[in-house]
Amino acid sequence: LSERLQSTIQKIKGKGKVTEADVKQMMREVRLALIEADVNLKVVKDFVKRVSERAVGAEVMKSLTPGQQVIKIVKDELTELMGGEHSQIKFNPKPPTVIMMVGLQGAGKTTTSGKLANLLRKKYNRKPLLVAADVYRPAAIKQLETLGKQLAIPVFSLGTDVSPVKIAEEAIEHAKKEHYDVVIIDTAGRLHIDEELMDELKNIRAIKEPDEVFLVVDAMTGQDAVNVAQSFNEAIGITGVILTKLDGDTRGGAALSIRAVTEKPIKFVGMGEKMDALEPFHPERMASRILGMGDVLSLIEKAQATVDAEKAKELEEKFKTQNFTFDDFVDQLKAVRKMGPLEDILKMLPGFNKIKGLNNIQIDEKQIDRLEAIVYSMTPEERAHPEIINASRKKRIAKGSGTSIQDVNRLLKQFEDMKKMMKQMMSMTQGKGKKKMKI
Ligand code: GDP
Ligand code: MG
Repeated sequence: LSERLQSTIQKIKGKGKVTEADVKQMMREVRLALIEADVNLKVVKDFVKRVSERAVGAEVMKSLTPGQQVIKIVKDELTELMGGEHSQIKFNPKPPTVIMMVGLQGAGKTTTSGKLANLLRKKYNRKPLLVAADVYRPAAIKQLETLGKQLAIPVFSLGTDVSPVKIAEEAIEHAKKEHYDVVIIDTAGRLHIDEELMDELKNIRAIKEPDEVFLVVDAMTGQDAVNVAQSFNEAIGITGVILTKLDGDTRGGAALSIRAVTEKPIKFVGMGEKMDALEPFHPERMASRILGMGDVLSLIEKAQATVDAEKAKELEEKFKTQNFTFDDFVDQLKAVRKMGPLEDILKMLPGFNKIKGLNNIQIDEKQIDRLEAIVYSMTPEERAHPEIINASRKKRIAKGSGTSIQDVNRLLKQFEDMKKMMKQMMSMTQGKGKKKMKI
């Protein structure tokens, strides 16, 4: 697929705006990629339609072909669709926080309950209690108890003769008494969705409104994921999704389907059978994975870098005319946040590799706030003509920015180093004619 896609991308030439024909051609490939990733057909259709509308007429970045631009839009949209701001876990200000795990049999509820308890203790410093509420298979209780033992996390169980509702009720009481602050209820699943299961889950959730109801879904559940997610969401209302078995070779189209249908965030992904194999969900990685266009996407990212190189070129001009001021410096610092280390940006400038003393200008991103504060404490005149910054001015700037004179000195030195280096670089590239930047 990738090869064909590449050639399609290359074939589409043109400038300025993405045409309808470009989109049509590209979307055929995107549709295929999504279907191959096992995204539900209806979801594919809706997605392709929406993105097509957005893509037609879009400005094409200078460094991209229209085909690449379309793929970029597709990836951005996928990422946005699966992402969005949300907290990982909603904790109840009045403990215990109750988390209910639901899903089909074999999805990974019990395993994930253990992983989650482990994560809560390790990363969130919580004291979790696992609750065995799958009373239909004695082996299920045993399984959770084994995991609990392995993790040294207590498991609350009343055997198989007590109703799950009663178990949940008593577990929460027990947690209050013993000061467990998170209760994770591992419920039963079925091979298929049925009324009885849904009623049971509804009854459990009726005891005390859970803070989270996590739907656990096997990432290999291709097309069916939509039905599963929809049924669970409609019947009991879920608050988030955990996608398991993503360590397999599935492209994980289920993530997209579930997100599109339930509009509930994917919170974690299971990356193996071990108890530490639970990770936060990364929408962008997932988008790449679903599209299965690793090489195409990295190509696009590289191309994008040349756009940043254009900015660098602008900077180069400023250095040349000696107009580089502290205002530009602050702009650069801001750009650093977006683009990565300043070093990398400078590397895009021609001839930069040949310059020694590169290490002197490494800037720790955490320092940026402080540097910005210093620059903002300068007067416009000082920013434009740093040479006028004398001892008393330094003192004032340090005070105004809540830093020390040493900090101010360091910044001034960095700034001078940068200027010097640029000058040196300019003289090196002179006479050779302007090299075109190619990435
Ligand atoms: P439940 O029926 O929903 O409770 O599912 P289980 O927790 O019993 O898991 C079913 C099977 O899937 C077990 O063999 C687990 O080891 C396996 N499993 C669960 N999560 C993952 C995962 O993230 N990766 C892999 N490779 N296997 C998993
Ligand atoms: Mg289970």
